[in-house]
Amino acid sequence: MWRKHNTRSMVTSISSSSGFQKELSVPPIHKHYTRSIGTSISSSSGFEMDPSVPSIQELADARVIYSVASAMGHNQESHPESHLRVPAILSALEKMKLTSKFRGTDIVELKNFKPASLDDIANVHSKAYVAALEQTIGKDAEKGIIFIDETKPTYATASTFKDSLLAAGAALAVVDSVVAASKLSPNPPVGFAVIRPPGHHAIPTGPMGFCVFGNVAVAARHAQLVHGLKRVFIIDFDVHHGNGTSDAFYDDPDVFFLSTHQDGRDNAMRSVFEEVILPCAQRFKPDIILVSAGYDGHVIDEIAGLQFTTGTYHRLASDIKQLARDLCGGRCVFFLEGGYNLESLSYSVADTFRAFLGERSLGSELDDPAILAPEPSAKVKEAIQRVRSIHSF
Ligand SMILES: [Zn+2]
Repeated sequence: MWRKHNTRSMVTSISSSSGFQKELSVPPIHKHYTRSIGTSISSSSGFEMDPSVPSIQELADARVIYSVASAMGHNQESHPESHLRVPAILSALEKMKLTSKFRGTDIVELKNFKPASLDDIANVHSKAYVAALEQTIGKDAEKGIIFIDETKPTYATASTFKDSLLAAGAALAVVDSVVAASKLSPNPPVGFAVIRPPGHHAIPTGPMGFCVFGNVAVAARHAQLVHGLKRVFIIDFDVHHGNGTSDAFYDDPDVFFLSTHQDGRDNAMRSVFEEVILPCAQRFKPDIILVSAGYDGHVIDEIAGLQFTTGTYHRLASDIKQLARDLCGGRCVFFLEGGYNLESLSYSVADTFRAFLGERSLGSELDDPAILAPEPSAKVKEAIQRVRSIHSF
């Protein structure tokens, strides 16, 4: 179903921007800790190399690396955050010939990753929350669906705890692989963790807004602690504010969190990229860029009022890839957040992969520009000016 939206302006919020440096006790890069990189596993432990695990050279030669955690048991009837989301994306990747079956070594899917450990999760979430969640699910799951936050949009099932650890593990595996590839190649592949449940609303002390563990936040801490990548720049282009990520890093000057939300169209996002994201990133000088990639801003996604098109996501992905190449050795990983219309979600992720490959957007064949309301240009301009003045650009 197509619908029109009212056109309030896009608002950009930025947290934890700072011009000052704080000493962070990051341990030196020690024994390489990997989840899915064949050569490291074989050389460090003497195990036989698993042929299904790509070597570091194969990772460095790839152009897209992705992992999949579809959480099929984490599902509630008619809930928008459903178990059909990841299969829809995989089917679009297949239809658009964006898998290794069609692209050979350009596209690598990581398969043998481990779930995140409780320690990984505890880098962001309180141990009390993690323990209570595990206990509640263990105790109540036989009753069927349970609701794990007060306002009730976030549900859990018997497999939710396990599924959430696997989603975070899939996220960390992509980070490990992209970082490993960046040591061999100045143009490493871009990573995409095709995972659920999503994470950017989950706060340090609990779940929120369909989110259980903050996958992007857990990955940011992992990049700092395990890979010594001190300065992490997080771009959140989901239609909703990434409040959980913001909470996790509010007092940390080494993590810059930039979240775009509310309304606008292609040109609004383009202006925000050029006039806000680009100068913020250039000034911050990141060691890695992580992206909360939510696709619920698509014009046909019913959950919110942005008017992005498939082409908007393609352009954003291209621009962010280039930003990572210019500023941080190409180290860049996307993490799936929202996106509830299965059609726009799946084809927008596929078009994002095409952007990573340097191929043109197929958006013009997928989108119907006739349903877009006029761009609220004056309001967008005003919002951008406000943000630029607050942050002294
Ligand atoms: Zn969202």
